[in-house]
Amino acid sequence: MKGTVFNIQRYAIHDGPGIRTTVFLKGCPLKCYWCHNPEGIKEEVEIIFRMEGRCLNCGDCQDACPQKALKREDGLLLIDEKKCCKCGNCVTVCPTGALEMVGQKMTAKELLNEIEKDSIFYEQSGGGVTFSGGEPFFQPEFLAKVLKLLKERSIHVALDTAGQAPWEHISELLQYVDLFLYDIKHLNPQKHEKGTGLSNELILGNLEKLAGSGVHIIGRFPLIPGFNDEEENIFKTGKYLNTLHINQVHILPFHGLARGKYKDSASLFKEIVSPTAGDVEKTREIFASCGLKTRIGG
Ligand code: SF4
Ligand code: SF4
Repeated sequence: MKGTVFNIQRYAIHDGPGIRTTVFLKGCPLKCYWCHNPEGIKEEVEIIFRMEGRCLNCGDCQDACPQKALKREDGLLLIDEKKCCKCGNCVTVCPTGALEMVGQKMTAKELLNEIEKDSIFYEQSGGGVTFSGGEPFFQPEFLAKVLKLLKERSIHVALDTAGQAPWEHISELLQYVDLFLYDIKHLNPQKHEKGTGLSNELILGNLEKLAGSGVHIIGRFPLIPGFNDEEENIFKTGKYLNTLHINQVHILPFHGLARGKYKDSASLFKEIVSPTAGDVEKTREIFASCGLKTRIGG
């Protein structure tokens, strides 16, 4: 059994204590319009055309494709997902890196080997490994296998989750997770659905059960102007975390670095304006007034 991993980031210092390796698992049930990693939403491996001025229009990729899955239309290279067998030939022959294969299939043991390469840094810094995504619980069996191997090696595990998963998937893994980094995107179910595609009912229910289990949780609040930045919502979120005895929140201000990943002109991402330093500080103050320890960034 293999999982699909789309990035392994070493020497991370924002996703939990110490120096960490962050593993990004592919697949997510939500579709947040501000997502910084939209390439992590689909579970399957994808070939992505990142034109961004890199394509020479040489046609080498089309010549190398055994499935005739590539065609050019209005200057864009289109990939027929139904025909593409993910052989990667097009990526290999592309001289400029305009094409990219996102995601690789790995066994739990293969992933463990990658993680263990940095064990010395975990030991020296009090770090470990963080699972992010996508949504880590979107691949529950694979995640369970890796977490069990990590537990045997006493490697600290943090799980960065949006909480949209059956409670059984979460509860089964509680004993293998040292820290949950839990996203709260909006407390209002209708607004949550508008921004992410799904209501927050399951997410909040899971968080309440998780908090009741006594596991260490840090709340994460993505600050998205025009979506969840009203003072009232921030205050209610802070109070809500407080009632669950969660005493720390990370504020993750929106930034536009992923803008190039959104080619669709209808995408709402391009309309989001990054919060100012003053907006971020105001958010921090509101959370602090609710008795929470705050941190800007993960
Ligand atoms: S991955 Fe293979 S099948 Fe898919 S578009 Fe590239 S060359 Fe064609
Ligand atoms: S091989 Fe690369 S540079 Fe050449 S046409 Fe294909 S995407 Fe463009």
